Amino acid sequence: MKVSDTGPTRFHLRVVGYIPGTVQQVLVLNASYEPLNVCSLRRAYVLVFKGKAEVVEELDRPLRSATDTYQWPHVIRLVHYVRVPRMVQRKISRRALFARDGWRCVYCGTTAGRLTLDHVIPRSKGGDSTWENVVTSCAPCNLRKGNRLPHEVHMELPARPRPPAPVLFIRLATPKIPQRWEQYLGPYATSTAAA
Ligand SMILES: [Zn+2]
Repeated sequence: MKVSDTGPTRFHLRVVGYIPGTVQQVLVLNASYEPLNVCSLRRAYVLVFKGKAEVVEELDRPLRSATDTYQWPHVIRLVHYVRVPRMVQRKISRRALFARDGWRCVYCGTTAGRLTLDHVIPRSKGGDSTWENVVTSCAPCNLRKGNRLPHEVHMELPARPRPPAPVLFIRLATPKIPQRWEQYLGPYATSTAAA
């Protein structure tokens, strides 16, 4: 956008000023309606314009370009189903890991105290830093487990660790989920919904 002090530009800037951050974000659904990620308004617009996505929720405000008026996409759905390859699975962060595990220690269930990242199979024994091998552990449990396998110290995993669903990253990346996204995210809620 060219910035000058002409009338139309001032108008444009004024309009931009009205837009709360969340409206500039667009929820992207797979063809199956499963939430995939969040993209920018511009990206959503391009996907729709190219026929790769359709608008399933729009905002009640026109999106204007220099010459035309368009729907303001709020939720879009890809026309073709995309498989999320395991290779591009999101990187592990403590925040995402703790959120996946509900901000509690998987071994003792406590939510108090300091949470740590634990490799179920310790790295010293060849354990990988993958979603399937890391869990949230309170500091005392982590200390107790040390460099051993859970069963060696009579600790038990309640469930097999798995990569989180995309919805977890959407919630983590969007501090305030727009109300009209909830019906799409809700069915995929995890223990992280309140996080
Ligand atoms: Zn614990």
